[in-house]
Amino acid sequence: MANLRVLSGMQPSGRLTLGNYIGALKNYVKLQHTHDCYFMVVDLHAITVPQEPEALREQSEAVSALYLAAGIDPSKATIFLQSTVSEHAELGWIMTTLSYMGELERMTQFKEKSAGKESVGVGLFTYPSLMAADILLYNADLVPVGDDQRQHLEITRDLAHRFNTRYGDMFKLPEPYYPEVGARIMSLDDASKKMSKSNPNPGSYIAMLDEPDVIRKKISRAVTDSGREVKYDPANKPEISNLMSIYSMCSDLSLAEIEARYEGQGYGPFKKDLAEAVVAVLEPIQARYREIRASGELHDVLRQGRERASELAAATLKQVKEKMGFVVL
Ligand code: AMP
Repeated sequence: MANLRVLSGMQPSGRLTLGNYIGALKNYVKLQHTHDCYFMVVDLHAITVPQEPEALREQSEAVSALYLAAGIDPSKATIFLQSTVSEHAELGWIMTTLSYMGELERMTQFKEKSAGKESVGVGLFTYPSLMAADILLYNADLVPVGDDQRQHLEITRDLAHRFNTRYGDMFKLPEPYYPEVGARIMSLDDASKKMSKSNPNPGSYIAMLDEPDVIRKKISRAVTDSGREVKYDPANKPEISNLMSIYSMCSDLSLAEIEARYEGQGYGPFKKDLAEAVVAVLEPIQARYREIRASGELHDVLRQGRERASELAAATLKQVKEKMGFVVL
């Protein structure tokens, strides 16, 4: 298994949420033990919407530190910043030229992010082409992501296939890898929207760096369905089902075990225990996060990551250019 390759990334915009942790980061940590893993901070994707330079720098370091704090071990997995491996931008351009307007116009993330805006940056439109380049540069087999990345993974496979057909076999078609429960963690104030760091209401999400008491307060205020039964039924009880997914992922209790445990007890005791389960997961991560930020080790880890990632990326890009007919000197 060690030769199966994994690649994924997160944007350094805003603060990571419990949705990022459950949907993706938890799987990163798991996969590093069995796969050849590359985890990056996709700063080039972040600039598809305007970023303050100081905030971009701070957030890029914060997300990298959270990777480490969550348990990614740099001696097992490679952690790096997308912008430090220039091949991403270069293959990104090549993938842009292989992409069709029509397929990019169909992306729901683009439609959502551009809806109602007067001026929409071109980078937001070609975002999926750059994401395809990220994955294909490493010929990744598996891409751990949350459910919202489904379409982006499909277009990546389409582009890989298109390249292979046009220029001869080059890329593997990568498979997405979703968590069994929790691929889509929903907002605490509205279970029809995904939990997101860009939601203006901080009560709608739990940030990975929220203080324990803030976490307890947010969970106690989370919207619940009418009734009092703790039952997993996403169609009829979306709010409770979402909280149950979070509980299951933070405790390793199955959904059925959670139902049995709170039978006849109502929402109160369930929410109290849920808050403690989330705190028990996040508090140690927060403590390690503070140590890592204070230690100054981060830049060394990222420099070493850049070296390892560059080696693979450069080799792929050279082959791509040869196949396409560039003069490679
Ligand atoms: P982003 O924050 O958009 O860069 O997303 C980073 C990763 O976290 C991606 O794999 C997303 O699919 C995942 N993710 C983000 N929000 C959620 C959520 N609410 N539930 C599950 N996964 C999520």
